[in-house]
Amino acid sequence: MATLDSKVPKGPIKDKWTTYKDKINLVNPANKRNIDIIVVGTGLAGGSAAATLAELGYNVKAFAYQDSPRRAHSIAAQGGINAAKNYMGDGDSNYRLFYDTVKGGDYRSREANVHRLAEVSGNIIDQCVAQGVPFARDYGGLLDNRSFGGVLVSRTFYAKGQTGQQLLLGAYSAMNRQIARGKIEMFNRHEMLDVVLVDGKARGIITRNLITGEIERHAAHAVVIATGGYGNVYFLSTNAM
Ligand SMILES: Cc1cc2nc3c(=O)[nH]c(=O)nc-3n(C[C@H](O)[C@H](O)[C@H](O)COP(=O)(O)OP(=O)(O)OC[C@H]3O[C@@H](n4cnc5c(N)ncnc54)[C@H](O)[C@@H]3O)c2cc1C
Repeated sequence: MATLDSKVPKGPIKDKWTTYKDKINLVNPANKRNIDIIVVGTGLAGGSAAATLAELGYNVKAFAYQDSPRRAHSIAAQGGINAAKNYMGDGDSNYRLFYDTVKGGDYRSREANVHRLAEVSGNIIDQCVAQGVPFARDYGGLLDNRSFGGVLVSRTFYAKGQTGQQLLLGAYSAMNRQIARGKIEMFNRHEMLDVVLVDGKARGIITRNLITGEIERHAAHAVVIATGGYGNVYFLSTNAM
């Protein structure tokens, strides 16, 4: 039976991604402007990746099948975003967030990737706050937390019942700044049909222009796939926008 190679780095779970990052080839800052990156999807994952890559100097082409990045499914998320900052002093840690998330995912997640998510969870909140996301605050002005999603501690950062919408507006604003700078070329209403592999590496995509029906090809040095999860199969994805 064929098995999927998810290319998770080797080593103990808690060290896999840290070790990988310590050893990965670096790109000289002056060379980043010579490298093209395709990002497929402009939800919270793709939108923030595109904005960050462009801010670093890479040339980004971003693709979405909706008529605006703001219409990604991420806009429907409500409850909040978990991070192990332990602001409530209830004993939270990266390990506890990792454990809760693996358990909450019915033990079906890629555990090393969940560990990485827990490690960077605090930084994600800091980045969102820097982007201007209006997370709820307590009366003293500090970021508030609530308990959400069946976890044992209060670690959810939230913006009323519209966290996804506010987060997406933050990512979308950062992205628009890069579109205006000419560092992101935005392709709305383009559906990826296939990935172009050269020597086993993704070097481009084939798309359909949903306005004209034209099949197009786009090349790059790397391709980031951020096309969301199974949420897209629900009618809600079109209804909620
Ligand atoms: C009602 C609801 C509530 C939720 N509440 C929470 C919550 O409280 N906390 C939480 O952490 N999570 C929550 N989630 C889950 C969370 O919203 C999603 O996991 C997350 O937003 C997914 O983000 P994404 O960027 O990966 O994908 P998406 O936001 O789905 O974006 C996918 C992008 O890929 C593009 N795309 C897809 N296929 C193609 C293609 N073939 N060609 C071109 N472009 C393509 C789309 O155009 C879109 O831009 C909730 C989800 C829903 C639906």
